[in-house]
Amino acid sequence: MNKIFHPYTPFSAIEKGFLNIARGEGIYLFDDAGNKYVDIVSSWWAVALGHGHPKVVKAIQEQAAVLQHSITGSLTHPSVLALAERLAELMPTPDRHSVFASDGCSAVEAALKIAIQYWYNVGQPDKTWIIGMDQGYHGDSMGALGAGFVDDFHKPFERAVSHPAKLPFPIPTAEDPDGFLPSKAVIERHKNTLAAVIVEPLCLGSAGMKIYSAGYLKQLAYCCAENDVLLIIDEVAMGFGRTGKRFAFNHADIDPDIVCVGKALTAGYMPLSAAIVKDELYDTFSDAGETDHTFYHGNTFAGHPIGCAAALAALDIYEAEDTVERGAEMAEKMKDWMQPFAEMDCVKELRFLGMIGVVELKPETKPLIAKMKQSLFEQGYLFRPLGTMFYLMPPLIISDDELRGAVFALQQTIEEFC
Ligand code: PLP
Repeated sequence: MNKIFHPYTPFSAIEKGFLNIARGEGIYLFDDAGNKYVDIVSSWWAVALGHGHPKVVKAIQEQAAVLQHSITGSLTHPSVLALAERLAELMPTPDRHSVFASDGCSAVEAALKIAIQYWYNVGQPDKTWIIGMDQGYHGDSMGALGAGFVDDFHKPFERAVSHPAKLPFPIPTAEDPDGFLPSKAVIERHKNTLAAVIVEPLCLGSAGMKIYSAGYLKQLAYCCAENDVLLIIDEVAMGFGRTGKRFAFNHADIDPDIVCVGKALTAGYMPLSAAIVKDELYDTFSDAGETDHTFYHGNTFAGHPIGCAAALAALDIYEAEDTVERGAEMAEKMKDWMQPFAEMDCVKELRFLGMIGVVELKPETKPLIAKMKQSLFEQGYLFRPLGTMFYLMPPLIISDDELRGAVFALQQTIEEFC
């Protein structure tokens, strides 16, 4: 009897029944009957190094044998100290402190609260608004729903969260090639009440892999700085090589005030996330003056030792195995192999960003999507289409043959059904 309240799973899917995943190895998941499936969405975009990487597994085992849990409220431990140092070093400017949490949305919640409390700390308590991009996604907690809101998922909560304003998704024009001017107007209009802007860098993942330019991000960073608005970059989905650089914001050569990371931080092996905060902000959270500005926020598992050990191992591997550079090379190949999709009548658009390859089909294919997904499943590929859009977002360690096989399977399936 299945007693799980499954996330993002319609009851109709539960009635049909689904796989019981017994183990993972490389890019494959195996069910309890021994059948193998390509994890083409990297287990919700997290397992950048594939499943069962021995070095991450070893790091987890070694940490578990020494210290399983100890809080980071007024205490510390070696793994969390090392990881905070390491994350600071990965930023364009290393003067940073990290708030740790477990899931991406918890890192986002911390980032939103830090931004609001920062303005309170410096005597501007009216700056409490956070705005995100239209259809942006930052997780499913209530604060994250105020900053990001995907109509298809979040409708029941529309009246329960406040939406002061949104940045429109950038649409390039001849006069405004990055489509930034409408966003600039929103920021300038609300600057007196605006604490921060939060965006998914370069790609709105859950909204359907909608891609925008690095030029937009660069202008956004400049505009936020000009108008005394903090910039939070949510790298939970894009961070650690997905876009062909370590962080997606590196494409725009900017230095965000707060960066949120999760998912691939531990290569998906342990639940761990972080909000990496500039020291200009951090330094205002002091209790030295008349007012206590301590950040009274935390999660039980903040800086969990086993999570930190997994993250340190993953970061070592990304560096030692040139995972980011290798992913960028594979991305070029994927783009070439997917070009024939553009010739198909039912294809509306192809989109690419690093190791994300998107085939958006025309709206009339909607009734066929579930059948295509089922067919791909029977061929051993676990695709998760969003609307009429199929995307490949495989582990960055996928081989040429494996990736070419996945592209070919998708191509044949679309040809067969459309
Ligand atoms: N931010 C972004 C950009 C995401 O894509 C996600 C999850 O997909 C989150 C935040 C939330 O992360 P989590 O599901 O770990 O809470």
